[in-house]
Amino acid sequence: MQTSSRLYQCLRCHAQVVICTHCDHGQRYCANGCSKKARIASQKRARKKYQTTRAGRFNNAERQQRFRNRQKQKVTHHCSLQTPSHDVLNKQLKTPKSSPFRPKQTKAIHCHHCGEICSPFLRHDFLRDRVNQGDCRR
Ligand SMILES: [Zn+2]
Ligand SMILES: [Zn+2]
Repeated sequence: MQTSSRLYQCLRCHAQVVICTHCDHGQRYCANGCSKKARIASQKRARKKYQTTRAGRFNNAERQQRFRNRQKQKVTHHCSLQTPSHDVLNKQLKTPKSSPFRPKQTKAIHCHHCGEICSPFLRHDFLRDRVNQGDCRR
């Protein structure tokens, strides 16, 4: 039996990734270590942010402006799986909204995470709506 699967674009290297239901936990990165790299990067960012919070408090007009712009973008941008978090919003905006995510090969599609053969009918949406909603609220 073929597994239902999802096709998505890695937020870091923009590779197209197929993921089967079993592996799908709302991943946004490819199986080549991008999630790990992104996690490390975001940890670094968080640490840096923490360190600069106090210093920036006196001179944060620019940051606030940027924050406001980001909020605006969030509102205007349709709330979909393409806007998972603020970190990647800028990158995501470059991606055309209705990009035809269609794999060229129609033979066997394998999950890039576990290698299992997947159904050629790929979803572009998350399995769990919760994942999406949580991100959009933030
Ligand atoms: Zn990647
Ligand atoms: Zn899999």
